[in-house]
Amino acid sequence: VLLLEPERALVLTDPRYTTQVLEEADCAAKVVRGATLKSVPPLLEKRRLSRLGVEAGHLTVESYSFLESATRGKTSLRPLAGVVEWLRLVKSEEEIALIREAVKVTSRAFARALKKVREGIREQELAAELDFQMLRAGAERPAFETIVAFGPRAALPHARPTFNSLQSNELLLIDMGAQRQGYASDMTRVAHWGRPNGKTRALHGAVLEAQLAAVDAVRPGATAHSVDRAARSTLRKHGLDRQFLHSTGHGLGLEIHEAPRLGKKETATLEAGMVITIEPGVYLENSGGVRIEDTVVVTANGCEVLTPTPKELLVL
Ligand code: ZN
Ligand code: ZN
Repeated sequence: VLLLEPERALVLTDPRYTTQVLEEADCAAKVVRGATLKSVPPLLEKRRLSRLGVEAGHLTVESYSFLESATRGKTSLRPLAGVVEWLRLVKSEEEIALIREAVKVTSRAFARALKKVREGIREQELAAELDFQMLRAGAERPAFETIVAFGPRAALPHARPTFNSLQSNELLLIDMGAQRQGYASDMTRVAHWGRPNGKTRALHGAVLEAQLAAVDAVRPGATAHSVDRAARSTLRKHGLDRQFLHSTGHGLGLEIHEAPRLGKKETATLEAGMVITIEPGVYLENSGGVRIEDTVVVTANGCEVLTPTPKELLVL
């Protein structure tokens, strides 16, 4: 539990973290026994805090009810949303350098794991290989559950890897990201086992065109929805916009999904130092799907695509 006051901060933890809290926290720390939250009400009373903001997106109903009843008449609670996240919108030079490292680890691991692809490999096996290679290349952990989808399963935007095995002439959709020194990265690439037919090439080509158009629209002062529109209108030209089922991208940093969201109705204005993903995708039920995703940083006069992995349809 972190208690923030205008002039000081205090982190409360339990005895398992006595040593770790001294190493990791740069503010005052107190080790308490029992449920950490139980030590909060007496502390509020001692410090005569009459108003307390709580993170609505993270506190459970149970914890909120406890705090509310234990502080009744002394401290009033106010649910807050996005206060901390808002401060994280624009990344510092140091943070961008760390994200760049996480991106490199992802691309290196992708290239290594791809060598293991062969007919009959299971989605689970390839996902495990990608995770292993990320850890080997310097990740603390994958930033999210790695997605590997073969053939028709590539039509599921958030497919979980299964025991399905790779057949000849199938698409492989891989969405992965390394978490390194606390910072996330995010990348999606599509490969084809065997020579792709014209229809698959055209689908991939359309998504790539949309992805490049969206990257082109990223600059300081651009609104989030204008970047989304660039991708969506390109897909409309190909008659594929209705199969584009999600927004064009999201911010990332300490968490894999942060503000801003790059959706149809998002009015946030991009600023230099924001780090976002650009990831249009088209999903054709029972047949397959293509998504191409890069991690991108907004710069003073445009943007820089951090992801070094080529985006062409990889033929294996
Ligand atoms: Zn992704
Ligand atoms: Zn993403």
